[in-house]
Amino acid sequence: MSLDFLPFTRPSIDEATIAEVANVLRSGWITSGPKVQAFEAALSAHCGGRPVRAFNSGTATLEVALRLAGVGAGDTVITTPLTWVATANVILEVGATPILVDVDPLTRNIDLSKVDAAIRPDTKAIIPVDLAGLPVDRDRLYAIADRRGLRVIEDAAQSLGASWNGTPIGSAFGAGRGFVSFSFHANKNLTTSEGGALVLPADIDTGLCERLRLQGVRRFPDGGMDVDVLGGKFNLTDIAAAIGLGQLPHLATFTARRRELARTYLTTLQAVPGLDLPPADLNQGNWHMFQPLLPPGTDRGQFIAGMKARGIGVGVHYPALHLFSLYRALGFKEGDFPQAEDIGRRTITLPLFPAMQDSDIERVCSALRATLSELT
Ligand SMILES: *Cc1c(COP(=O)(O)O)cnc(C)c1O
Repeated sequence: MSLDFLPFTRPSIDEATIAEVANVLRSGWITSGPKVQAFEAALSAHCGGRPVRAFNSGTATLEVALRLAGVGAGDTVITTPLTWVATANVILEVGATPILVDVDPLTRNIDLSKVDAAIRPDTKAIIPVDLAGLPVDRDRLYAIADRRGLRVIEDAAQSLGASWNGTPIGSAFGAGRGFVSFSFHANKNLTTSEGGALVLPADIDTGLCERLRLQGVRRFPDGGMDVDVLGGKFNLTDIAAAIGLGQLPHLATFTARRRELARTYLTTLQAVPGLDLPPADLNQGNWHMFQPLLPPGTDRGQFIAGMKARGIGVGVHYPALHLFSLYRALGFKEGDFPQAEDIGRRTITLPLFPAMQDSDIERVCSALRATLSELT
């Protein structure tokens, strides 16, 4: 790879954050402690004051949310086939069964017009995903969930910084019975290297959430302890929380810069024949990713290789998950979700991160045009 290789994403971590991490390392307390508490408080302020607990991954928050919602063996949970596989894996992890609902080809998010018909008597929850940081319609989502008595667990791994009708994702929508899961994986818009956070609805016991996060342990003032529930090992470290605290003040400028870059992509690429551009939401989405769909029939492997040869990193997020072996073994098959399958086969993730220059966009777009004309 040449020195000026442009990856599809790169975190922006400033020197003040690096210094804060060093301070934690020197402090003598490097696992969960005051930095985690401060990070949770800062996230809570972003989420309208709702209770927030930090975790060591977004996946862990989804699993604990399902447990807190009382989802387990014999239950079904509705979600989308077009997401990072973690969204569906956690449903299996708690012993429940995923019901997949195809995506809306315009938003690429779960098609809410198909959800009602997919709900069964054993359906307890729905996990919508804000793919690429484009929010699922919160009004329609909660209208269905509240009417049908479903818990919502918003997989907002990609949508921190996005909003719905001006209200930040993470806030309460509908009757306020929704959980919100964030991921701070290195590629997300705000990172702690690895990490996550769970926003809790008002009727959920925060103490139980904390016990599910750490071995089920309940501590008493006299120094005694008890374990009354099976918890995991999901706590975030102060080292990671210090990174998150350093990132949060930049979230708004990160998001604004991503929107600017997306706008430039949308205007520069609109004339490329056969390329389907992502929905042009420049106000509410946080542009976690910029994902055109390649012209039908394009060999994606060759496209990625051609871009790489021109110094441009391209990602794939994601193939439809029901076609993975684990899910085929559950009975899912090709043709089940045609929209997700088509998008999953054609999608590419072009470079988009706050530190990119305007000239980088021009570079990506000329590489894309050159690569496509070579292939067709
Ligand atoms: C990243 C991601 C997750 C999982 O987050 P981790 O922190 O990697 O566990 C879940 N769902 C979606 C949609 C994601 O993008």
